[in-house]
Amino acid sequence: MLTIQSLSKSYDKGKNFALDDVTIDLKAGDVCAIVGESGSGKTTLVRLIAGLERPDEGSISLNGKVIASDKKFVQPEKRKIGLVFQEYALFPHLTIEENILYGISKLKNKKKRAQEMLDLVGLSDLGKRYPHQLSGGQQQRVALARALAPEPSLLILDEPFSNLDAMLRMQLRNEVFDIIKKTGVTVLFVTHDTQDALSVADEIMILQNGKVIQKDAAANLYVKPNTLYVASLFGNTVQINKNLQTAFKCPLNENCCHAIRNEKFKVFPTHDGTDPKSIDECDHITKADVIKKVVLGDSIQLLLKLESGEQLTVMTQDSNIADSIYIGFNSNDILEFSEEN
Ligand code: ADP
Ligand code: MG
Repeated sequence: MLTIQSLSKSYDKGKNFALDDVTIDLKAGDVCAIVGESGSGKTTLVRLIAGLERPDEGSISLNGKVIASDKKFVQPEKRKIGLVFQEYALFPHLTIEENILYGISKLKNKKKRAQEMLDLVGLSDLGKRYPHQLSGGQQQRVALARALAPEPSLLILDEPFSNLDAMLRMQLRNEVFDIIKKTGVTVLFVTHDTQDALSVADEIMILQNGKVIQKDAAANLYVKPNTLYVASLFGNTVQINKNLQTAFKCPLNENCCHAIRNEKFKVFPTHDGTDPKSIDECDHITKADVIKKVVLGDSIQLLLKLESGEQLTVMTQDSNIADSIYIGFNSNDILEFSEEN
C-alpha cells in the first residue's frame, strides 16, 4: 500500500540528515506507529509522505504509484492522504460542518458525507458550532472527521494527542482508534509516547536520529529490543555492567551489552525471615540494604546498596520492606545486545 525506499532528507545541503535512508512497507489496513524522541525526524517523514517536502534521495509509492522520487512529484492535494496534526488546524471562522466540507467541495453528495463523518466521530448535533465552542478533544475529532471525509488511502496522525492532559489523552486515543478501525483505513501514527504506540499499533518502527533502528510487531519490541536505547524507551531498564555482574555473580559475554527491566527484579522483603526455597527460584541473588524508600502511588521505589557496595534503584509493590533484604533476577530476563548504543 505504502512503500518507502531509501528515503533521505537534509535541510542543510547534506551536512545533517533529518531522515537517513528510511525504508518502510505498509499493507492495506495496517496501523503502524512511528516512535521517536523529539527531533528524530518524525514530522519530516510525515511531510515527505504528504508532499509538503521533497526528498533528497529515495522514493515513495502509494497504491503502486510513485508519488515522490527524483523523477516524479505528485502534488499534495492529489495524493489521497488524510492528515491530523497536534494543532487541530480547524478554520476558526468556519462552522464544524463547513470545516469538514472544505476538503470535499467537489463531491456530489457532500452534505450527506459531512453528516456521516459527524455521526462517525460522535458529534452529530454539533455541525453548526464554531471550533472555539468545542473542547480540545471534540476539536481533534472534527479534525479526524475532516481528514477522513475524502476517503483517503492513507491516514497520517502526527502526535495528535500531545496537546491533551493524561486522562483525556487516553480516552480520546481509544475513541479515535475505535473510529479508525471502523473505517479500515491504513494508518501511520506518529508519536513520542510508547504507551500510545503499544496500545493501538500492529507494528512499531523506532526512529533515532533520522534512522529506523527497529521495526517489529508491538509485542516483540518489549521482549526483544535491538538496543539498550529501544529497551529503555519501553520502560526503566538497568544496564548490567561489570560491577553488577560481580555483585550478582553472573559473568556475561564481554562482547555484548546486557540489561534488565526494572520490573524483572525480584525483591524479597526481608533478609532474615525469607524462605530459602523461594530464593532458590531466583538465578542470581544478593543481599542489599535499603537506603531510601519513595512511595509513588501503588508502587514503591527502593534505593539499594548491594552487599558489593554498588547502588541500584528498583520498584516494588510490597509495602512491608525491611531495612535489609534480598534482591535477585532470573537469567532468562536478561536482555542481550550486540553493541552498546
Ligand atoms: P520530530 O518530528 O521527530 O520532532 P522533525 O522531523 O521535526 O523531528 O525534525 C528532525 C530534524 O530536522 C531536527 O533536527 C530539526 O531541527 C530539523 N528540521 C526539521 N524541520 C526543519 C526545517 N524546516 N528546517 C531546518 N531544519 C529542520
Ligand atoms: Mg514532530
